[in-house]
Amino acid sequence: MARSVCIRNADWVVAWDAKAGRHNYRQNADLVFAGDRITHVGPGYAGPVDEEVSGKGRMVMPGLVNLHTHPSVMPVFKSIREELANPKLYFTALYDGWNLFRPEPEDCVWAARQAYCEALLSGCTTLVDMCFPFPGWLDVMAESGLRIFISALYESQHWHSANGHELTYVPEPDGGKGAFEASVTLTAETRAHRSGRLSAMIAPMAIDTTSIDLIRKGLELARAEKLPFQLHAGEAMAEFLEMTRRTGMTQMQLLAKEKLLGPDVTIGHGIFLDHHSWLHWYTREDVKILADHGCSVAHCPTPFSRYGIKLENFGAYLKAGVNMGIGTDTHPHNMLEEMRTAAILARIAAENTYAVSTTDIFHAATVGGAKALMRDDIGRLAPGAKADIVVVRLDIPDMMPAYDPLRSLIYIAADRAVKDVYVDGRKVVGDGRVLTMNHMEAAEQVSAAQRRILPKVPSRDRHGRGAEEVAPRTLPLAHG
Ligand SMILES: [Zn+2]
Repeated sequence: MARSVCIRNADWVVAWDAKAGRHNYRQNADLVFAGDRITHVGPGYAGPVDEEVSGKGRMVMPGLVNLHTHPSVMPVFKSIREELANPKLYFTALYDGWNLFRPEPEDCVWAARQAYCEALLSGCTTLVDMCFPFPGWLDVMAESGLRIFISALYESQHWHSANGHELTYVPEPDGGKGAFEASVTLTAETRAHRSGRLSAMIAPMAIDTTSIDLIRKGLELARAEKLPFQLHAGEAMAEFLEMTRRTGMTQMQLLAKEKLLGPDVTIGHGIFLDHHSWLHWYTREDVKILADHGCSVAHCPTPFSRYGIKLENFGAYLKAGVNMGIGTDTHPHNMLEEMRTAAILARIAAENTYAVSTTDIFHAATVGGAKALMRDDIGRLAPGAKADIVVVRLDIPDMMPAYDPLRSLIYIAADRAVKDVYVDGRKVVGDGRVLTMNHMEAAEQVSAAQRRILPKVPSRDRHGRGAEEVAPRTLPLAHG
């Protein structure tokens, strides 16, 4: 018999109402799980259990689903990339900014550990990990205790800008076939992992870097294996201009014409679609195309907010019928802060408080992400669902008062209130500390990696500039 745990008489439980297709609040309720599955949600559980945990002063909610991240590199850019942008490429640092600071392959496992720790501490239990393969990836995913969808990126050409104002593409010698095959192999190895927590999403890198042929091959594989699929598109102004230059169509119109959309397809970002105010494009079809095909969008507001870019807007996409999920993309991998940013920016973009509700945002960060991953057993607390559970402290000042505990959590306390996190019924965060990995060791290793990278910046920069010139510090360094 699987070991059973009862979180007894929690002040609040965020329970799933399958009939209504939404979360509800329940007060003074029990949550019981046995092994990796939830067996009971509701008051007065009378059955036998192996362990009782008091729910007094606690809210119990489903683990959050982070639909888009790049853990093996992003932590290394911490305190650099927040203000790194190229105004001549519409502010994005994708093409000639972040790669000056890229980590060496052997540092990637440490960056991944640090990102996974941040994610867990913010109540994330499922994470889509989109990276180019690096040594030790599978092992570090397994070690984390998270539920991870490996998304081994592949592409047929990569971004380059020799002059800082023109985006060009450097083709892979084999057209990307080798990268695709490596991705397929790693995907298979990961899915075979005995933990059962690791799965896969098929992920060509981006619409402008992957040939239509290789995007199609990926989608065919995803469909044959019943796996979800994600592609970066609508990520940058320059990408939109490039795709309309190449094809005369927007990215979504091209994907629709090539029959590369469907309910199993998630568009990473989906910001620069035909309606975006920067573009002045003549059509207004793209959001409807996404909705008509049942697609999802992985919305990651933080990195774009740093460039001065916003989705226009979350509420309008939802209203049109697009399934929305939320991802952190970059550091901090803090899902609760990401949810807050998503809500705030949607309201600013729409100039309307009611453009999006906290209900919408919480739905997106749980069942919205689960739907994109084609899973009906995560992102919810219901009998039969996976025991992916977050226990939140209500008895700390940041959470008090809590007329509405999710508002107190998302808009005020965030990760400071996350006490315990369970994935598959296994406790992976206890009393606000990660139990599966050494968070401090990961942070120290990533700091050391960043220190080793800084002297390499001049050799990577086209003007031979040093790190301090490319990314000036907030304050000048005083001497003497
Ligand atoms: Zn991304």
